[in-house]
Amino acid sequence: MILITENNRIMLNKKNIQFLIVHCSDTPNSENLNASDLHQMHLNFGWNGIGYHKVILRNGEIQNGRPEYWIGAHVKGKNTISLGVCLIGRDEFTTSQFDSLENILRWWKTKYPLAEIEGHNNTKSTNKTCPNFDVKAWCEHRNIF
Ligand SMILES: [Zn+2]
Repeated sequence: MILITENNRIMLNKKNIQFLIVHCSDTPNSENLNASDLHQMHLNFGWNGIGYHKVILRNGEIQNGRPEYWIGAHVKGKNTISLGVCLIGRDEFTTSQFDSLENILRWWKTKYPLAEIEGHNNTKSTNKTCPNFDVKAWCEHRNIF
C-alpha cells in the first residue's frame, strides 16, 4: 500500500522496501562534499532537496539525507520501493567509505531483510555507470546478503 500525504508526497512503507540502492555523487574524488552540498545541488535541479537517504563522506562519516519514511529521488521507476545511499566521489572511494557502506547496508538489512542490494547501474533504469564499481561482487566479497 502506498500512502499519499495531503501535499501528494508519497510516504515510503517499510514493508515495500525491495531494494537498497548504492550510488556515487559523480563529483571529483578530490571534492569533500557533504549531504548539505548535495541538498543544494538537488534543489538546483528543482527537486525537493537531497534525493538520497544516506550520504557517505570521503572520510567515512555517514550523514542523513531524507528520512527513511520519505520517498527518495534517486532511481527511476523504483523510488517507491527502495532506499538510496550515496558515496561522495566518482570512481575511487576510500577504505573508510567502504566500511561505512558496509555498516549502513548491514543495518538496513536488519530492518528490511527482504530488500536486495543493487548498484544504480544494476537497475537497468539508467545508462549511468554509477556507482562505478561492481556492488554485487563487493557484497559477496564482504559477505553481505
Ligand atoms: Zn546513481
